[in-house]
Amino acid sequence: MGIKLKPKVFIALPIPPQAEAFIAEHCEYRKWDFKEPIPREVLLKEIVDMDGLLTVGGEIDHELLNSAPKLKVVSNISVGYNNFDLEAMKKRGVLGMNTPSVLDDTVADLILALVLASARRIPELDRYVKEGRWRRGYDGSFFGVDVHHSTIGIIGLGRIGEAIAKRAKYGFDMNILYYNRTRKFKAEKNLGAQYCTMDELLQKSDFVVLMTPLTPETTRIMGHQEFSLMKNSAFFINASRGQTVDEQALIEALLKGKIRGAGLDVYEQEPIDPGHPLLKMDNVVTLPHIGSATEKTRFDMAMLAAKNLVQALKGEQPLNIVDELSGVKF
Ligand code: NAP
Repeated sequence: MGIKLKPKVFIALPIPPQAEAFIAEHCEYRKWDFKEPIPREVLLKEIVDMDGLLTVGGEIDHELLNSAPKLKVVSNISVGYNNFDLEAMKKRGVLGMNTPSVLDDTVADLILALVLASARRIPELDRYVKEGRWRRGYDGSFFGVDVHHSTIGIIGLGRIGEAIAKRAKYGFDMNILYYNRTRKFKAEKNLGAQYCTMDELLQKSDFVVLMTPLTPETTRIMGHQEFSLMKNSAFFINASRGQTVDEQALIEALLKGKIRGAGLDVYEQEPIDPGHPLLKMDNVVTLPHIGSATEKTRFDMAMLAAKNLVQALKGEQPLNIVDELSGVKF
């Protein structure tokens, strides 16, 4: 009887020891263990003889697939998988997986933090205090706007979108509008979310939250026209992907006072250039793509991605194949 060789995998970023130990039980592996992202040319060399890849964000395209003739499985440590060239992967018979659900509440918490921080001007006023500019007396220049009982419009009422809606309803008594590819009747019934067109949502919302995945249909779904429909008093919140927004249009809307402010976790270019105009605006709250970045959630995501990878390589039904690649056989 021949000895069954363990599959070979490459781990393209540092992961928790428990996730690495789990992979080690089932696979031979090499890893990139540095804080800096792995240079593309190093990755292309490392995956030459690999069956599996554990990664986050790196493009899985023709070039990478051509460099890895044995590759069968790519497991992302993220729910977003806009780094997958789905057609190329389908053609080559490479399975792709992501980490849905385990991060919903964590990302939704962050969205509400962006809503509150923008409306109540928290980073701006934090600087005000720390810079010693706080004086006794009545100062209306501190005033922000109420979040409670206002209207939130969620574009993309999926797993995270619904977790945001729950917080908005039960935490802040907000009215909930949503626009989505398909109707979400359960959320309508349970959360009182009202389905509307994108234009209607933009016109009526005090907080517009963008939470779709990045796809060809959602690329720059927010542009000049969309920002011009928003109320002058409204805030725009984005934690989806930077490319869902025409950033120039957002900058113009903010500079011309077409909208009151923004809360951003994602950008067209990441890391954002330190000289970027958005970073010079007091009415824009900026975060470094930390939607899912808590210790527990990042741990859970890494463990889930490791399990997805191993299960797929062992020929078991992996937990989280992305929809578009569900028919792939290798
Ligand atoms: P999800 O459950 O798949 O939800 C996405 C929702 O968007 C679905 O309801 C989907 O509609 C809808 N949608 C897709 N294309 C659309 C379109 N063209 N027009 C209108 N609606 C559309 O995904 P999720 O887990 O909530 O995650 C959403 C995205 O958030 C991820 O893909 C990722 O890019 C981003 N994200 C960012 C962070 C961060 O750190 N900032 C963290 C996690 C996730 P259907 O119901 O019809 O499919």
